[in-house]
Amino acid sequence: MTESFLEEMRVRLEEKKRDVVELLASEYNAFQATNSSSGRDLVDLASNDFDKQILDVSSALEVKTLNKINSAITRMKNGHYGICAQCSQSIGEERLKAMPYAVVCVKCKTKNERLNNKD
Ligand SMILES: [Zn+2]
Repeated sequence: MTESFLEEMRVRLEEKKRDVVELLASEYNAFQATNSSSGRDLVDLASNDFDKQILDVSSALEVKTLNKINSAITRMKNGHYGICAQCSQSIGEERLKAMPYAVVCVKCKTKNERLNNKD
């Protein structure tokens, strides 16, 4: 893997990270707007934790993606970027281009999906 490829992936990870953070922020703002305009004061008082859970669920996917991006950036700093977490083989530039925060190679991903779809 070349330095310029790594740099390209780093830029794309940072861009993607910004997108996800913005998405999370807009979800959070929409959530707050809904809450404050609903006029359900008592419920608001009582259900802060509950509402937060709903927000957590709705943004869980983005948070997961954000975690993946952050760990990809960490792996990049550690020099482990692009190495499959399962079989330690190279993930491959084509796959990284398609998904810069990929953790496993195509082979392991296919294997995992097969295992997960068993039931
Ligand atoms: Zn693998």
